[in-house]
Amino acid sequence: MANSRYEYVRSFELPDVLLANTWIVVRIDGRGFSKFTTKYKFAKPNDRRALDLMNAAAEAVMKELPDLVLAYGNSDEFSFVFHKDCVLFERRARYRLPNYFVLAPPNAAWHSRKLTTTIVSTFTSYYTFLWQTYFPAMPLTPPLPSFDGRAVCYPSDQNLRDYMSWRQVDCHINNLYNTSFWALVQQGGMDPRAAERELSGTISSDKNEILFSRFAINYNNEPEIFKKGSVLYRDVRPNSQTSVGHSRNIANLDSSFPCRPNRPPCHQKQHGPRHRCPIHSQRMEMSKTQKEKDRKKRTKAKVVIEHVDLIKDEFWEKRVWILS
Ligand code: ATP
Ligand code: ATP
Ligand code: MG
Ligand code: MG
Ligand code: MG
Ligand code: MG
Ligand code: MG
Repeated sequence: MANSRYEYVRSFELPDVLLANTWIVVRIDGRGFSKFTTKYKFAKPNDRRALDLMNAAAEAVMKELPDLVLAYGNSDEFSFVFHKDCVLFERRARYRLPNYFVLAPPNAAWHSRKLTTTIVSTFTSYYTFLWQTYFPAMPLTPPLPSFDGRAVCYPSDQNLRDYMSWRQVDCHINNLYNTSFWALVQQGGMDPRAAERELSGTISSDKNEILFSRFAINYNNEPEIFKKGSVLYRDVRPNSQTSVGHSRNIANLDSSFPCRPNRPPCHQKQHGPRHRCPIHSQRMEMSKTQKEKDRKKRTKAKVVIEHVDLIKDEFWEKRVWILS
């Protein structure tokens, strides 16, 4: 098959390598969901079943791709975060092993299209597969749900955190608007155009006031899942029962920590499975078997779903292992 006279067409495939050692975020978004949500009579502004379905599909994606460390979703979108150190989908087939998500050799490249399309199709498959669990009375009919996707690299931890904050602020702004809009329409009996006019030019405090004074809705008491969206991560906290091997490695670490020669590593209890010193960003060597263990541990770990603030430091400080 190789070197046939047709082989040259491969040169039309342009490179789409993602920068190494960066956080890769793949964001997917429902295609034409404004229409889709009308067709299936989603509760407005927030259909809880639909959000739970999005989360279930995202959880399945995290389970299938252990290199994902974090995901965040709201409305019809989800962002999936690959760890800086992960190397997926090496291009050349010779590294392919029976398990199709293999750790490729160092400095192998990440390919944007392959990452994105894999996430998008895995997510879409599960969304469709799980649909009947969440909407048993409404079978899916064509046109079936579909999602678009894109991959972006973020070089620093701060860039990644700012990205997450950006999506969560977007969730908040949209939700406050939608909650006010639908209150005006559903409870205020306004037609949609009038409601839109009423809200145009208003700032957050105006919308809070409209909700409170006209509809006795205290926006702060709205469900967290609506206001904050959903965060998914693996529960591989180092001190939990599921912790594997790491404490043993810490015992003879001195040489791996030039930042603290002949002394125990700093804040050792906080060391995550990625073996990075959270204070000094000092990378520890991981042997091949360690890497496999680490991978197994991540594969087995429970995926947690929370509706919490990602903008303040607290989330990250309490879960150091996610980015470590
Ligand atoms: P595009 O293909 O460009 O993404 P779109 O119609 O999907 O077009 P979005 O900006 O993605 O546009 O908007 C998603 C739409 O789906 C919004 O109208 C949002 O209110 C609706 N939606 C998404 N999830 C839910 C939900 N759980 N409950 C109710 N409505 C939802
Ligand atoms: P990758 O994720 O890199 O694509 P892969 O295992 O899917 O890995 P491919 O080169 O795409 O590797 O090979 C597809 C495999 O599926 C081959 O082994 C092929 O024989 C098998 N296969 C695909 N379609 C059929 C089919 N209709 N009947 C039997 N075997 C099939
Ligand atoms: Mg879109
Ligand atoms: Mg959409
Ligand atoms: Mg959207
Ligand atoms: Mg093939
Ligand atoms: Mg294949």
